[in-house]
Amino acid sequence: MLLKILQILVFNIIFLSTIYLAFKKAKQIYSNIQLGKAMKKDGSTNERIKNVLLIAFGQQKMFQNILPAILHFCIYVAFIITQIELIEIFIDGAIGSHRLLYHTFDDNHIFHFLYVGTISFIEILSVLAFIATIAFLSRRNLLKLPRFTKPELKGWPTKDANLILLFEIYLIACIFSMNIADQAMHIQEHGEGYGFLISGMIAPALSHLSYTLLHVWERIGWWGHIIGVFGFMLYLPHSKHLHILLAFPNTYFAKLTPKGQLSNLEAVTKEIKIMMNPDTAFAAPTEADATPVKFGAKDVFDLNQKHLLDAYTCTECGRCTSACPANQTGKKLSPRKIMMDTRDRLEEVGKNIQANGGQFVDDQKSLLSYITVEELRACTTCNACVQECPVLINPLDIIMELRRHLILEESNSPEEWNGMFSNIENNSAPWQFSQQDRLKWEEN
Ligand code: SF4
Ligand code: SF4
Repeated sequence: MLLKILQILVFNIIFLSTIYLAFKKAKQIYSNIQLGKAMKKDGSTNERIKNVLLIAFGQQKMFQNILPAILHFCIYVAFIITQIELIEIFIDGAIGSHRLLYHTFDDNHIFHFLYVGTISFIEILSVLAFIATIAFLSRRNLLKLPRFTKPELKGWPTKDANLILLFEIYLIACIFSMNIADQAMHIQEHGEGYGFLISGMIAPALSHLSYTLLHVWERIGWWGHIIGVFGFMLYLPHSKHLHILLAFPNTYFAKLTPKGQLSNLEAVTKEIKIMMNPDTAFAAPTEADATPVKFGAKDVFDLNQKHLLDAYTCTECGRCTSACPANQTGKKLSPRKIMMDTRDRLEEVGKNIQANGGQFVDDQKSLLSYITVEELRACTTCNACVQECPVLINPLDIIMELRRHLILEESNSPEEWNGMFSNIENNSAPWQFSQQDRLKWEEN
């Protein structure tokens, strides 16, 4: 009895501490995203919900490459369905019961069938997830696919990716330890197991072991699993695996305008219109026409909240970088690195604000301390990275904002472009002659 009370106490203390710490970190991430400018939503809500269902929930974009997509899908479905078993584990831990749902509805055949069916399904998915995890570990560490060996993945990102896969194996091992030992105990007590499909095939072979040993084994599996889940909840916000949660809002808020359509600065568009057609009587300038205080983005504060949500959602899969023509031709640019740098800078800014009582203290750095001019200039604005991203992230938007800052605020553009810019300014055309003369070629 004392042991049971102790277990309930320990479980609830760990559970509440985990919820508190996970909530604290989630709040910090939310506040960091709020540092960006308000995002504008375009398109209809229905279209957004469709994106969430197809792309985040259905993983539609992953299925461009069928084998990894199926493997990833196994891990994903196993993760989702296991949450059902987890509910029971949480209840058992909180009140000190054992397989509460099974025993509460012991006489109800339909519920009994559903319960055993669900746990059996979880076991099948766990085996598939185990195979998928081994395949992913091999792909990263033995096959060394080029997109997993790029410079931006050196150090922590590679460790993070491996760690989570090993962690997956650990959780699967705990689930099976728990179910096998529990069923062997049930055989000793009732002459038969619960009826779970896979663990039920192994349990009879162990039912001759002493009850105490099986009980200790079952408890190790149970506690190992639940502590692993708590650890995962705390680890998740520090890992690229945050996409498990953020893929949903990220696909909801993704731009719905055609990919090739770049957003223009309204004030600049108006200037150009006046320049192109000075005779047109434009209405008197309104507040909205005022020249922006800043052009483009230098730091995370100048980006919008969707850009910052993108940064936290990035799975570091590298599909964007593999498709990037600049990267393929040996340039320094990697759209994945743009997203990782944005997230790292945002975290740095968030910590700065936290450490200084809610105020950002200038640290003489900006996002441009992470992303170099060389990287930004290498972008061809082809949109391949946007097309490839499985969770609708847009690295090009951030690149464009940083480039706007460089050019419009710092006049930092390649020598060849400067001539074109002054021609546009002076002649309303990229060439060195006046707009009025542009049809003169016809005279020759
Ligand atoms: S838009 Fe730029 S970053 Fe994206 S794939 Fe094309 S060149 Fe690479
Ligand atoms: S931006 Fe998208 S495609 Fe690129 S690494 Fe991140 S998740 Fe993958």
